[in-house]
Amino acid sequence: MFDSSILRRSGNGLRVLLALCLLIAGAILIYVGMFVVIQSSTAVQFDIAFFGICLWALGLGTAWLGVRCPSCKKRWIWDAMRWWGGYGRVIGLLVTTSCPRCGYPNNDGDGPPPDNRWRGP
Ligand SMILES: [Zn+2]
Repeated sequence: MFDSSILRRSGNGLRVLLALCLLIAGAILIYVGMFVVIQSSTAVQFDIAFFGICLWALGLGTAWLGVRCPSCKKRWIWDAMRWWGGYGRVIGLLVTTSCPRCGYPNNDGDGPPPDNRWRGP
């Protein structure tokens, strides 16, 4: 699945997977800490939720800072969320086959790559 995605082809696949796992695990822990009563102690519940928030932030950090273009070092997910129109663009990265900025891995020549549908500013 998504074999032709730039995220996979550039060697960022494992990092994306790690970030996703952290985000999901964090979200589950936040939910459990806030809404599912395991312990009668509020402090323990808070600790669970707080740990979940930490995992979630770590996952977001991994996605934002860790997923980069091997050629121009552009932070794809960070830029997609910040500049290119939000979450829809992040999903778009899954089907994008080249770097929106430099055209990696098709940037052997001058000019934009043929399949470059959207570019950053
Ligand atoms: Zn690039």
